[in-house]
Amino acid sequence: MKLLVAVKRVIDYNIKVRVKGDETGVETANVKMSMNPFDEIAVEEAVRLHEAGTATEIVAVSMGVQQCQETIRTALAMGCDRGIHVKTDDELQPLAVAKLLAKIVEQESPDVVVLGKQAIDDDSNQTGQMLAGLLGWSQGTFASEIALADGKANVTREIDGGLQTVAINLPAVITTDLRLNEPRYASLPNIMKAKKKEIAEITPEELGVDIAPRLTTLKVTEPSQREGGIKVETVAELVNKLKNEVGVI
Ligand code: AMP
Repeated sequence: MKLLVAVKRVIDYNIKVRVKGDETGVETANVKMSMNPFDEIAVEEAVRLHEAGTATEIVAVSMGVQQCQETIRTALAMGCDRGIHVKTDDELQPLAVAKLLAKIVEQESPDVVVLGKQAIDDDSNQTGQMLAGLLGWSQGTFASEIALADGKANVTREIDGGLQTVAINLPAVITTDLRLNEPRYASLPNIMKAKKKEIAEITPEELGVDIAPRLTTLKVTEPSQREGGIKVETVAELVNKLKNEVGVI
């Protein structure tokens, strides 16, 4: 069974994101970038399936600027076999990523594509679903457990108020949620080995995909400053404030 894993390069989750002065986006110059955390979970799951003998090959795909190759190298050091870099300096919105992935799927014929449930920079939570739609494949989103056997996948999904297990036919698109696993750190020998693994480079033009943005960002602003709280002496005072000052009851 062949797996394709999508890994996005995003601002590291530990970094305090700053909005650009002209409100056109967030500052990315000289900012630490890492693999999207949900994609680390996707890679980890794929590697575990490989170690269990369920998967035979894992291909990691990243799309964007040249430095996406660092993200692919991380995936290779974690245990993926080879990488594909779809290189572009242009903005990529989820629909464009889904279309590019659909083309790679045509070339690679994987049995399962594993993505993160969302990228922590745009918080779109769209790419996996759009990819499944474009391919006409089954989808298991927000996975907290995946069992693959006999051309089928049982995917346990994190939904409001509980868990839902769906049985889907392969080929399928699966997106990962936080509790699926705890990603490993790549060991030094594996980081060294990853340097020798192959990363193929291709452009959106070569794949014949129009990546023109469909959405325009009007502006990006800082969240409003949190105001300091106050202490109330009695429950009656609290109720009075909630009712007459804040207007929430
Ligand atoms: P989103 O729909 O933008 O929240 O992203 C969901 C998932 O799609 C991510 O967790 C990645 O697995 C994948 N993805 C989105 N953008 C890219 C990209 N530029 N390169 C590789 N994978 C991506």
